[in-house]
Amino acid sequence: MMLAADPTAAAVLETFPCYPVPPAGRAPAIDALREVRAGQGFIVGRDGMMLILRRAWLALDYRVTDGPECYAPYGSVGPDALSFRCGNIPAVLFTQVLEHFAAAMPNEAAAFILWHEQTRTFRLEFPEIDAATPSRLVYRPPILAEGWHLVCDIHSHGAGPAFFSATDDADDAYSTKIAIVVGNFATPDNLTVKARLCAGGMFLTLPGLPFEEASDAA
Ligand SMILES: [Zn+2]
Repeated sequence: MMLAADPTAAAVLETFPCYPVPPAGRAPAIDALREVRAGQGFIVGRDGMMLILRRAWLALDYRVTDGPECYAPYGSVGPDALSFRCGNIPAVLFTQVLEHFAAAMPNEAAAFILWHEQTRTFRLEFPEIDAATPSRLVYRPPILAEGWHLVCDIHSHGAGPAFFSATDDADDAYSTKIAIVVGNFATPDNLTVKARLCAGGMFLTLPGLPFEEASDAA
């Protein structure tokens, strides 16, 4: 069955499909959407509509509406779920970012954490800074070589506190990434950190930072 007669409209719907959840909950089309390497779509259940968003490094299931007030013979969309397909990021990279930010004081600074899909390795990249002052920073997103993905976009607020400014919101609106801001570098023992997942045009607060100490063999 064609959902749109116009080929352009049909192509749009194909890149962002919407599937009803069967009463039993499972469906091949929904399983396929959850397993796709990169893509997104909605599923609609009796308890609401859920965004299913996949990137090489990210898997997000997030209920974006409540269910219809009317009777709907559908199953449940299930619980929200967030997982990082890339695994946790080595904490040493965040340590290096903090050292870089401290060295840039009193100016703001920025760093990216990239992940390679085939080698499953992370690396740091420091962006070209177009303008840096104690209260303002202009930098461009990284140009990614084949296989690399931007996972974290981190910037400092210098001596100021960590928070997401209106400028940050505008910069992050169309990205899929983890955004982190670190502040209060004038008092290094009392740094402030805020982290959020930018996905689907939303900003989702993360329960914690996505970094993990290496598990050295004892
Ligand atoms: Zn900021």
